[in-house]
Amino acid sequence: QNRIQYLKDSVAAVKDFPQEGILFRDITTLLEDPRALKDTIDLLYEVYKDEKIDYIAAADARGFIFGCALAYKIGCGLVLVRKKGKLPRETISQDYDLEYGKNTLEICKGSLKKGDNVLLLDDLLATGGTAGAMIKLVEKSGANIVSFAFIIELFDLGGAKHIKDTFGIDSFSLISFP
Ligand code: 5GP
Repeated sequence: QNRIQYLKDSVAAVKDFPQEGILFRDITTLLEDPRALKDTIDLLYEVYKDEKIDYIAAADARGFIFGCALAYKIGCGLVLVRKKGKLPRETISQDYDLEYGKNTLEICKGSLKKGDNVLLLDDLLATGGTAGAMIKLVEKSGANIVSFAFIIELFDLGGAKHIKDTFGIDSFSLISFP
């Protein structure tokens, strides 16, 4: 619990970013702190080390940072879930709604196959809109979703409940803010 509190304290809270009224949780300060960075990966590893994970599918762009370190530690592969137009090969894609407008996420076709055990990962869970699009995308590949991991959950926005109720998928967040 000590370690979790240390992690919480390492995340900077930035008022009015990217727009007024938003309290942005900034993980760059966690990354800059060697103890916080190491504990983040080590604690996630403890949760998932025995889950027989074949791939971590991590979200563009902050999810890549944690996803790569955790994949290295677990000894599994890393699949990049990228914003539209970045991947050079043929892709499968999933549109989703943002507060204003739409976005599209993509993975390379063939990166995930039926029966692969996949852990999804992003830095932060808010409403669960991004996570839902990632789940739909990975489900299109036929792979099996083991769980969805986040560093931070903004609990009051109900993202974990949305993921569970809509897709039947359990999520895990290391730290939680209201
Ligand atoms: P959701 O789709 O769950 O509403 O929003 C989560 C997505 O937006 C994640 O990809 C996350 O990186 C980004 N995001 C939203 N709010 C914050 C925040 O306060 N801090 C960080 N680091 N990312 C955020």
